[in-house]
Amino acid sequence: MGIRENVRAILSELPSGVTLVAATKQRSPEEILEAIEGGIEVVGENYAQEAEAKYGVIGNRVKWHFIGHPQRNKIKKLVQFVDMIETVDSWEIALEIEKRCAALNRVMPVLVEVNSGREPQKAGVLPEEAEGLIREIAKHPHLRVMGVMTMGPMFGDPEDSRPYFVETRKVFERIRSLKIPGVELKYLSMGMSNSYRVAIEEGANIVRIGTKIFGRRE
Ligand SMILES: *Cc1c(COP(=O)(O)O)cnc(C)c1O
Repeated sequence: MGIRENVRAILSELPSGVTLVAATKQRSPEEILEAIEGGIEVVGENYAQEAEAKYGVIGNRVKWHFIGHPQRNKIKKLVQFVDMIETVDSWEIALEIEKRCAALNRVMPVLVEVNSGREPQKAGVLPEEAEGLIREIAKHPHLRVMGVMTMGPMFGDPEDSRPYFVETRKVFERIRSLKIPGVELKYLSMGMSNSYRVAIEEGANIVRIGTKIFGRRE
């Protein structure tokens, strides 16, 4: 099967209300254009420079989500073209986005990344730290927190991911129930090629899929 068919097959199985983000790191603009022909409307990039180069070719035919670890010195570039940053996990990064978006007079939708596996080497705030960061971000007029994202630990068996998705959904629902002024939690981004079905069962409404669309990365 080709890229278009892969996208169509995944889209046909997703429940309505679930957004498919094509995770496009290391994929060429040509591959991404094929995915767009299959029905992809949102792509997720991990590196600012790579994203910018592909944006130069593909432009606004799709929405651009940033799903990598944002470096402070790359934020200025990123906020010029991305539609959402899914991976905010510190007040320093939030403040830098605020500064750069204020200069452009735009508001950036963001998700807070949660380190649901509590893995020391992984990005994201600990589950109990998410509320504090969201309250902090809510003070910034040029950021809008719209949800929560998690990677979770990698497993061969997707069932092993379930507890981390459950924990992240609990964080999402608890903070949503607080009705923090200026915060409208709508998006729960979790699940990748091998785990998206479990993630959707646990409430994900954004899934980020690379391998199952494009094949294995080199
Ligand atoms: C690469 C990546 C994905 C997709 O991973 P696959 O296993 O290839 O589907 C999802 N989310 C993030 C943050 C990624 O970096």
